[in-house]
Amino acid sequence: MTKEEEEEAPDWVGAQEFYEKYETKEVLGRGVSSVVRRCVDKRTSREYAVKIIDITSSDKMTPQEIEEIREATVKEIDILKIVCGRDNIIQLKDCYESHAFYFLVFDLMKRGELFDYLTEKVTLSEKETRNIMRALLKVVQFLHGQNIVHRDLKPENILLDDEMNIKLTDFGFAVQIQPGQRLKEVCGTPGYLAPEIIECSMDAAHAGYGTAVDIWSSGVIMYTLLAGSPPFWHRKQMMMLRMILSGSYDFSSPEWEDRSDTVKDLISRMLVVDPKHRYTAADALNHSFFSQYVVNEVRQFTPYRRFRVICKTVLATMRIYCNYRRAKPVTKEVIVSDPYAIKPIRKLIDACAFKIYGHWVKKGQTQNRAALFENTPKAILLSMAAEADQPVHLIW
Ligand code: ADP
Ligand code: MG
Repeated sequence: MTKEEEEEAPDWVGAQEFYEKYETKEVLGRGVSSVVRRCVDKRTSREYAVKIIDITSSDKMTPQEIEEIREATVKEIDILKIVCGRDNIIQLKDCYESHAFYFLVFDLMKRGELFDYLTEKVTLSEKETRNIMRALLKVVQFLHGQNIVHRDLKPENILLDDEMNIKLTDFGFAVQIQPGQRLKEVCGTPGYLAPEIIECSMDAAHAGYGTAVDIWSSGVIMYTLLAGSPPFWHRKQMMMLRMILSGSYDFSSPEWEDRSDTVKDLISRMLVVDPKHRYTAADALNHSFFSQYVVNEVRQFTPYRRFRVICKTVLATMRIYCNYRRAKPVTKEVIVSDPYAIKPIRKLIDACAFKIYGHWVKKGQTQNRAALFENTPKAILLSMAAEADQPVHLIW
């Protein structure tokens, strides 16, 4: 359309063009003012995902809120255009605007959100976490290189394609800043908020925050992938924000027993309260966690070294064999007295809990994945009652 034609076109023409080209199907996800649906290109039969953003005034939203959504959408589209064609970032294919709606057409990510994948798997291995975090940090490094802050990194906004590659999406809070510019706006999702964002909300004179907030959120994501539950969580949001402000988290849950010191070290360098001392994306990518399992060139050993390696291998094999012989059998008594202390049974219990209550693992604002790991039936019931805002009668 030419500029003149665009100005003369009626308000609904963008919507009409969209519906002429695409057929909308089932809902894939929902946000505050948007709904994402699968859609099919009528001509090519290719599938896409369309984010339909509602900008009509309603009882739920004031005209000022509508205007804010409109401005945010224009900003989201601008940023999507800047990052277009980049690996591991969602591709904006098409865009239509009408008086009442925006239609943003994206590549369809059939495997859905990393959040749901994690719910299905309960926890991820270090190897899988390494692949996901490497890709995510590379994207973050690229964005920060363009002075773009995403501000809403979380597993719900990381999608998976058919080959299980990640694609970062939802640039609704993303902003491109001037070099050195500080932001003061409070936005994001509570469990993933960096301490300096919370400080901004409490202190009008705060100096503001920058790109480092994305590294904090990446640290929260990395912790959550490995532990299954987030590092900062409390049923009362105020308490959770306090935990974030003081950087109170630990690696004490049983899931961390088998995790390497290297991975814990990297997380603890990302979850640093002072943004000046927090790792950058480049620092994180240079951490030894990401250089593990890179095959080094084959070394030439001298005959003496070869002999020593053979001796050590034999000794190690004997030690493993002896330990195996000495291992205590898992008897009925052991299982009955403390089942959660036995690793395979613990994994089975967690997997069953997620199978039963997986649907109840909330996303975004009311993130309560952690409650499933509290492991006492009483705590789970109380937290469900708090969610439903109604009393639960405990019968023991
Ligand atoms: P919001 O700003 O409302 O959070 P998002 O862009 O994050 O909107 O999309 C909401 C949800 O819709 C996502 O969390 C995801 O579940 C689903 N979704 C979004 N884009 C796609 C896509 N390209 N393919 C498949 N699902 C998608
Ligand atoms: Mg989202």
